[in-house]
Amino acid sequence: MELIEITSYSDPHSPTPNPALISDDAREEFWAEQATRLDWAEPWHTTHRFAKPQKIGADEDGNDILSVPEIAWFEGGKLNVSYNCVDRHVEAGRGHHVALYFEGEPGDRLVYTYADLQREVSKAANALLKLGVEKGDRVVIYLPVIPETVIITLACARIGAIHSLVFGGFSAEALRFRVEDTGAKVLVTTDGQNRRGVVVPVKTNADQACSGTNDIEHVIVVRRTSRPGRMDLPRGTRGLRSKEEDTVPWTRGRDVWWHELTADVPDVHVPEAFDAETPLFIIYTSGTTGKPKGLVHTTGGYLVQTAYTHALMFDLLPDVPDAHGVLRPDELSAVNDPAKVDSTVHWCTADLAWVTAHTYEIYGPLVNGVSEVIYEGTPNTPDYGRHFEVIERYGVTNYYTAPTLIRSLMGAFPKGLPQVYNLSSIRLLGSVGESINPEAWRWLRAQVGRDEVPFVDTWWQSETGSCVASPRPHDPQFAPPGTFDDAAAHTSLKPGSATRAVPGISVRVLDESGEEVGPNLQGYAVIDKTGPSMARTVWGDPQRYLSSYWAAYGERGWFLAGDGARTDDEGDLYILGRVDDVINVSGHRLSTIEIESALVTHPHVVEAGATPIRDAVTGHAVLAYVVLTAQAQSLSADEVREELRAHVAQEIGPIAKPREVIAVPDLPKTRSGKITRRLLTQLYEGQSLGDRSSLQNEEALDAIAEVLAARG
Ligand code: ATP
Ligand code: MG
Repeated sequence: MELIEITSYSDPHSPTPNPALISDDAREEFWAEQATRLDWAEPWHTTHRFAKPQKIGADEDGNDILSVPEIAWFEGGKLNVSYNCVDRHVEAGRGHHVALYFEGEPGDRLVYTYADLQREVSKAANALLKLGVEKGDRVVIYLPVIPETVIITLACARIGAIHSLVFGGFSAEALRFRVEDTGAKVLVTTDGQNRRGVVVPVKTNADQACSGTNDIEHVIVVRRTSRPGRMDLPRGTRGLRSKEEDTVPWTRGRDVWWHELTADVPDVHVPEAFDAETPLFIIYTSGTTGKPKGLVHTTGGYLVQTAYTHALMFDLLPDVPDAHGVLRPDELSAVNDPAKVDSTVHWCTADLAWVTAHTYEIYGPLVNGVSEVIYEGTPNTPDYGRHFEVIERYGVTNYYTAPTLIRSLMGAFPKGLPQVYNLSSIRLLGSVGESINPEAWRWLRAQVGRDEVPFVDTWWQSETGSCVASPRPHDPQFAPPGTFDDAAAHTSLKPGSATRAVPGISVRVLDESGEEVGPNLQGYAVIDKTGPSMARTVWGDPQRYLSSYWAAYGERGWFLAGDGARTDDEGDLYILGRVDDVINVSGHRLSTIEIESALVTHPHVVEAGATPIRDAVTGHAVLAYVVLTAQAQSLSADEVREELRAHVAQEIGPIAKPREVIAVPDLPKTRSGKITRRLLTQLYEGQSLGDRSSLQNEEALDAIAEVLAARG
């Protein structure tokens, strides 16, 4: 196991949580303490209530029937999430501090201070109220990464409406499922989207999604593409009609332009405080393993864990009031002056519709009052240097991204990044979404982090609402007395390890019967003490919430995360991919991620997807698809196969040697960049393909099918 000492961040007194030391009382006390990060209109009377699933009968086959669990945090407390993310910063005299730096794909830029955000969110709240949106109504937000997405999301929170964000790249079918499943009253969309330098109309998708049976009363259309870039328009002219607008399909009485709806509403709105258990949003899982589940998150607990973990993992700098307060777009070239940049500029590169972005791009940074970047486009528009330009332009200090993106950057810059970008503002790197291959971890830290900054590999899920396990940069303020084990100080980062549960939460690696599997053995990642941001249910389907997560260990009050994991000798956690993805060769449980990580250490391989295929003798055999570097394209199929089989045998052992290694142009991925391994198996075995609505690149399936057909 490779251990990397972080000299600049090591602190002998830095805290490592020791879950065993956390009693239920201490845990509740800890979270109650963290809850004081927020402004509450009324205090809570009960910090935590948890009714575990219990036997309530038996079905015809004699199997136990369990009750659905009930989870509540901070009951009796009242707060407004939008007030906490916006108004209170303005009231504290920080209205001039930058909240958002927006960069559009075509290069247009906008800056919103917290005072700007307060006005815009207030207007948006008034506009939604004007349309008849009430507390508890669902609003589906199908928008790209633009300021309106953040503003409308916060406006929903402000009036108690439940938002559900849907990735702007999703098809009409995927959107229809979410519109119908949530029973939304309002859908928000754009006229079109900028995608890789091209304007793509999306209003037609929205119309199609609303064509069935649903509860939609209004479709709000934010104008994004049917006009010149905003920066070219003087402020007063933004509401003018343009010719192109007439080409947007329109249903009279139902559809309404956002700029018209908000034109004459007041920019003041007094937020109402809601009970801590008021639903805040519904988030659909990525759909990596099948039909997405609509998880329900509530206000108080979600915001507490979000505020805490955002501060914990991203090691926020003390606020320097004027570091970013006075800048306007035309001054942006001056931003990366190190003398000026001594406060946090956070950048989470996820699409806003992904849970990562809800927590560490919308709510986390804003509740903590920091400046952040939101960027509309793809990382390779116009070329793969775009992210580095953005880092340089805004003086980004925290770069939080996904392993899939890091692998494509590695592929794009095989010789390392050209020395043309000033990335000196970077203080911290992070990744989420998949296990990170150690190779990718090292690459990013060397190329962008000068081989010296902390790298937080954060493990969590839509279900947990915010981070569950992550290494953390030191900061003694995060150590509540008595709940940490100082002896195991957190002075090291390990590539590929999410290390430890965050304070106040406990994770264990267990076997089927609930016994600890011990170091270096593979088991199930189980959260035996969950945090306040845990999803409360699956929207409209509490039984699915029970059966997906609580059936296995629920009577003990433990949550099955669905991922395989192991710990090392020091107790640090390695996530090994989904339980459904485990490859079982003659009783040896192999981790897809470990095989993939071994493959990408080979110089020919950009990306790899390992997946189980059926074998009559061994149960499973390993199938590996690889995306090769440009230089390796000329190799024959046999050469690739033999070379890479030998490589895996050498890296992991002969048992992990893939039966087949097949070079393909691309791997199928979900919108959040996760490899959908079940489709890889289904393609090879010629089965019918399951749910595909969450894919970002359906064409990858056809390309693989072609490669397989050509093999005969
Ligand atoms: P579905 O549940 O519909 O199949 P999904 O699990 O991909 O979709 P998300 O909630 O977006 O939906 O993703 C959470 C999952 O992502 C985790 O359960 C885990 O498998 C993976 N993951 C996230 N972060 C990490 C990480 N740092 N290391 C390893 N795996 C991670
Ligand atoms: Mg999942």
